[in-house]
Amino acid sequence: MAKMHADEVKRLKENLKAKGYKLTPQRRAIVDCIVSSEGKHLTAEEIYDLVKEDCAEIGLATVYRTIAMLEELGIVSRLELGDNISRYEIVHEEENHQHHHLICNNCSKVLEVEGDLLDILEQNIEEKYKFKIKNHSVRFFGICYECSKEEQ
Ligand SMILES: [Zn+2]
Ligand SMILES: [Zn+2]
Repeated sequence: MAKMHADEVKRLKENLKAKGYKLTPQRRAIVDCIVSSEGKHLTAEEIYDLVKEDCAEIGLATVYRTIAMLEELGIVSRLELGDNISRYEIVHEEENHQHHHLICNNCSKVLEVEGDLLDILEQNIEEKYKFKIKNHSVRFFGICYECSKEEQ
């Protein structure tokens, strides 16, 4: 995934303020952390550990609350990768559908798939079921390239 542009981060923060949410230093630090760790799919605890480095006084409950708020606003999306642990990533403005994830069963690495590739499938579903698709969440489970090399 492309790194988030500075303009996009600025708009995101303005968006928060416009909706009446105060961008406290703690909230700002959490947003910055999720933006800068893009592609890593961090858990709330991992976000907490990183934010704590700069905001020593922050509590885990604040991190949970802020992430829940960001998720509700559609700024952050939650990923369930099959291990019952929620991970989070920033949602890009131009990303109308969530990208797909490849999850390695061996090393638990998470890779992102560029490109949607599901347009034809969606068209078929919309026609057959008269169902308007707004988003989707696709996970592929398997063995990553590095692990497959080790198996040989
Ligand atoms: Zn692997
Ligand atoms: Zn992702």
